[in-house]
Amino acid sequence: MKQILYGGTVMTRDPACPMVADGAVVFDETAILAVGKADTLRAQHPDAAPIDARGGIILPGFLNAHHHIYSAFARGLSIPGNNPVDFVGVLEGTWWNIDRHLTRDMTRMSAYMTLIESIRSGVTTVFDHHASFCEIEGSLDEIAQAATELGVRACLCYEISDRDGAEKARQSVLENERFERVCREDHSGLLAALCGMHASFTISEETMDFARAHTDTGFHIHVCEGAYDRDHCSAHYHETVIERLDRHGILGPDTICGHCVYLTDSDRARLAETGTAVVHNPQSNMGNAVGVTDVRALMRAGVTVGLGTDGFTSDILESIKTSNVLIRHMNQHPSIGFAETMEMAFENNAKLADRRFGDTCGVIRPGARADLIVSDYRPMTPLTGDNINGHITFGMNGRNVTTTICGGRVLMRDRVLTTVDEEKIAYECRTQSEKLWRALGAL
Ligand SMILES: [Zn+2]
Repeated sequence: MKQILYGGTVMTRDPACPMVADGAVVFDETAILAVGKADTLRAQHPDAAPIDARGGIILPGFLNAHHHIYSAFARGLSIPGNNPVDFVGVLEGTWWNIDRHLTRDMTRMSAYMTLIESIRSGVTTVFDHHASFCEIEGSLDEIAQAATELGVRACLCYEISDRDGAEKARQSVLENERFERVCREDHSGLLAALCGMHASFTISEETMDFARAHTDTGFHIHVCEGAYDRDHCSAHYHETVIERLDRHGILGPDTICGHCVYLTDSDRARLAETGTAVVHNPQSNMGNAVGVTDVRALMRAGVTVGLGTDGFTSDILESIKTSNVLIRHMNQHPSIGFAETMEMAFENNAKLADRRFGDTCGVIRPGARADLIVSDYRPMTPLTGDNINGHITFGMNGRNVTTTICGGRVLMRDRVLTTVDEEKIAYECRTQSEKLWRALGAL
């Protein structure tokens, strides 16, 4: 169905025409058809169903390059006796404890909750990294069901790990392989797959080889999120984590390495040579007190660095704000960090999405995917095509988003979700999260 989004200022992220005041976007399910002045386009497309942006700012949908959907149920959770003093303690006490109790029903409802929050904050593409060692097989289908019903793009993977034994590790490899087949047969344009891996320090040599032999796609793995991963690899394999992954054929242009806080110069060079991407997660790194990724060193080496939220929030604007100030703080320089953050959040996240979904994301121009949002942010200083990033970083937040469109389908209009009954889902989420919390001894 042809539709026209009008009545706002279009910020395209297309350098050829960055801003259209009193603009409009004509689109259908396949792509954006036209961008221009509202009066002109409404006259040219009288058959297009109108959507009023109500004076807001029309932007391409945001992208989140690293998320953990299942972390939704940790909100407000306090597990008795869980008082970690380091990052491995956080994993053992909180995340591995949660995922060992996560059923398929819980996974599905956590996906609805997280993806609804993504839609509400204008995120139309999510790269998720999933673990549910209680019920592995079919767990990615539960997330895929929520993504396709809600209408957002989701690149999914299951976190391979030997931490619960060899049999669970084998099942986790096969879940990735199974879901790759599902994606090959899916024509919604909303689903994509990577082969998930937890981190070097919980994956044996045998499991790494088994995973390599059972996938045709790239990998999505945590790399040196904390110093422990680096030290474990050095002690057990006498090499860096990047060297170990390289030895197993894990690196490459389809692979995403999360974090990469502790790398050597030669690690960064090897990532660049192989075209492997890195995703920075600033709030998560600060929250887990693991150190700070040297984003500028990665970029200087020629590595594509994207931006994620790592389960900390579904609002990528929070990561944008944090990344900007964290890079400044780390480098003790008040004039850097902004350009790098914009490159990560917009150019590079779009590159990662283009690679997985095989189309043009993150820009408003004819032929690109019709992933569009409207923000009711009202600028009180001059807004131009050149300073939109400053308004986004210092003025806007996810709650400004009123309307979210993905693949030409309206998912939220004037802050009302159009594809699901949100109250019913919220009730089911509370039911499933209560079950999880009881299993963890927290209720
Ligand atoms: Zn992560």
